[in-house]
Amino acid sequence: MGIGRRCKAVLRRGVKAALRSRAAEPMLGRLFADRAFCLMLHRVAPHDPARLASNEMSKVSPTELERFIREALDGGYRFVSLSDALGLMAQKSAPAGKFIVMTLDDGYRDNLTNALPIFEKYGVPFILYPSTAFIGSGVLPWWHALEEILLRRDRVSFMGESIAAASMDEKNRAFEAVRSKILPLDDGESDIAAVLLAENKFEVGREALSLFLSWDELGAISRSGLAEIGNHGHRHLDLSACSAETVEREFTVSAEMIERRLDIRPVHYSFPYGHYDERTIGVLKSLGARSAVTVEPKAINKLNREGELPLIPRLGLYDRLGLRGLRAEVFYADMSAFIRLGR
Ligand SMILES: [Zn+2]
Repeated sequence: MGIGRRCKAVLRRGVKAALRSRAAEPMLGRLFADRAFCLMLHRVAPHDPARLASNEMSKVSPTELERFIREALDGGYRFVSLSDALGLMAQKSAPAGKFIVMTLDDGYRDNLTNALPIFEKYGVPFILYPSTAFIGSGVLPWWHALEEILLRRDRVSFMGESIAAASMDEKNRAFEAVRSKILPLDDGESDIAAVLLAENKFEVGREALSLFLSWDELGAISRSGLAEIGNHGHRHLDLSACSAETVEREFTVSAEMIERRLDIRPVHYSFPYGHYDERTIGVLKSLGARSAVTVEPKAINKLNREGELPLIPRLGLYDRLGLRGLRAEVFYADMSAFIRLGR
């Protein structure tokens, strides 16, 4: 890392901390008085310091979720469904106003056991985008299979390479190394998690196999009256590495399963890993998509372009984000686009 990059990293941390401080609150509060946000959640469960950072990062704890909802309601925000948000974003006259949309990706069981009771307590609508290959199947995505191996072994093998994974630091680094090999492989028929488990002669325990919802449980969520069900594709592939045919197959397989099991035809889409390009958007349009969510720190008051597929940027909800953190992240992203501080 050169001096320039190190300086920027220090500056970045300082600026972010300043933006999150109480001193910045009046300014950002005014600036964002009429802005709306879309938030991205995955697991809703307490953090476990004994597990890998890469997977833990996508958790928000139930107490922090509840704390955020209360803070937002006290701060004058209302929670609206994704469909209602699209209506608000499309209206031309008045600004769409202060609202928040909650989205949950992948289809974890804790969305039923931990998140739904909190959403019901406060009447918060949400949309759930399940990866249908993991629903009621006992099939794990590669990131959980890999974590199980790393937590119990001192080395992990993938595609013939053996990577040291004794200390927690090494385990986290090994996770990232294997991840960077897996994503470009996604346009294939093989089940990467099964390949990984076979190469390491590893069997996943019962607890990990119950991380995802069953179809009955997903049905119970969808009947709660608060949930919309969207399309996140079938196998959670990096679609930017896939042909147009694979992209289409991923979304049609998922849509057909959801329709057969729940009698719902999903019209809202979420890109696995937030990765997409013009080609993926073209496929979604041909499938009659009404919206797609992305991962970018932006407010969502206006649709991107009239007549285009609405792309809705989302920010991850994590512990201790709070309204101050949310506004600071969006303001920082706007600002750094000008002065090139980087994320
Ligand atoms: Zn996902």
